[in-house]
Amino acid sequence: MTSFNDFGLAEPILRALAEEKYETPTPIQAQTIPIALSGRDIIGIAQTGTGKTASFALPILNHLFTKRMRPERKSCRVLVLSPTRELSGQIADSFRAYGRHMRPLAIELAIGGVPINRQIRGLNHGVEVLVATPGRLLDLVAQRAITLHQVEVLVLDEADRMLDMGFINDIRKVVAMLSKQRQTLFFSATMPGEITKLADQMLIDPARVAVTPQSSTVERIAQSVILTEKASKPALLLEVLKTETTDRVLVFTRTKHGADKVVRHLQKSGYGAEAIHGNKSQNQRERVLAQFRTGSLRILIATDIAARGIDVDGVSHVVNFDLPNIPESYVHRIGRTARAGRDGVAISFCDYEENAYLRDIERMIRIKIPATDRRTGVRPAPRPAEHHHAANGQNRPHRGRQQRGHGGNEGGQNGKQANHGGRNNGANGHQGRPNRNGKPSGHPQAPRVDTSAGEPKAIGGVTFLQRPNEPRRNAGTRAPR
Ligand code: AMP
Repeated sequence: MTSFNDFGLAEPILRALAEEKYETPTPIQAQTIPIALSGRDIIGIAQTGTGKTASFALPILNHLFTKRMRPERKSCRVLVLSPTRELSGQIADSFRAYGRHMRPLAIELAIGGVPINRQIRGLNHGVEVLVATPGRLLDLVAQRAITLHQVEVLVLDEADRMLDMGFINDIRKVVAMLSKQRQTLFFSATMPGEITKLADQMLIDPARVAVTPQSSTVERIAQSVILTEKASKPALLLEVLKTETTDRVLVFTRTKHGADKVVRHLQKSGYGAEAIHGNKSQNQRERVLAQFRTGSLRILIATDIAARGIDVDGVSHVVNFDLPNIPESYVHRIGRTARAGRDGVAISFCDYEENAYLRDIERMIRIKIPATDRRTGVRPAPRPAEHHHAANGQNRPHRGRQQRGHGGNEGGQNGKQANHGGRNNGANGHQGRPNRNGKPSGHPQAPRVDTSAGEPKAIGGVTFLQRPNEPRRNAGTRAPR
């Protein structure tokens, strides 16, 4: 499919797409839209940033257009479940944008963190599309503001994130309330075993569509790592901001506290920066996101969960001030740049305690990220707490599913996850190897040496290497089943 006209979508939808300046369907759209229009269930393996929202929104709108009927009171015809408030808001905005020439079309948002009464009123007459986070939806069901047996199409978006955030049981509860006579469109960036199981239970004879956005997105991004001491990270961030030609910069920290600290540091240094994270009110988050979108705010500091699904085009740089302890989060983070087919830059700061996270990330993306060593070579003395953890045999950073956040809490907010050791003495087998300048690091756990790097790119005395150009074998990053 080279044009949206080829799908046979209704004229009001095509008109809206033309106004949105969408000319060519993205790969996930080209695969998904014809199947979804036929009414079949779909498992779509695609990440945010690939155009997946339109891949389900357009056929759904077409269905609503061709099968016009008034929704019953306190019901919805289409239910979209998404893990976060931000992503839900963006999905609802997309439905409004693509459906702007369809009348009547009621689209409601049911998300936590805002008063429920307005949502209850909004559902009173019934709606065509309800975009909801699972917890708030169940609250609305409990308050008899909505019944779900009328749902004709269910979309589950970012299923793997739902799992990470502890929403799987809520989803099962919701699905149990739905009619079996429905179409289900199931999207996930990765397909870990539990998600496959959930899909098997929810879908009937699904078509499987997959784009490999993680690898293709990853490959479009010039990634680099700077090995550094923890204490040097704030100065390093200033250096990056001074030396890189940036448009919009998204800086990730692991904790809310860390995000606020970075904001204070940048503001003190004369940079306009704001944070979004779980402690901020919905209004604050929306205001800051709007500023970032319009470009009046150019540096946004975010935690993983708050940033989930941020749909802002033109993020030129993602800076991982802290490396995530969950490798998939790295891919989600850097996917905020290189959106809508553009290239982007992702720079990650990695301190001693994060070495194991870096190795996990590289293993998952199957790319060795070009690294520059900025460490002074003096390893920090272990803190008493680290002795304690080491003594308990917990000298590996916590990671993996069993360590993930639950119930929508921001992962690692107490900051402990990063501090549980990660000392890995000699575990990477790089002892005594020289750094990229050919000098010995003077450190027992010498820096990684990048052998796959392309052309060096000098930034303020730091040598970054562009990602290698040669195709990689199996660069896909789907998690093992
Ligand atoms: P999504 O993966 O749904 O979050 O979409 C990522 C971004 O791509 C959003 O800003 C969309 O507005 C944009 N987009 C989606 N489909 C297209 C398309 N066919 N042409 C141009 N931009 C698109």
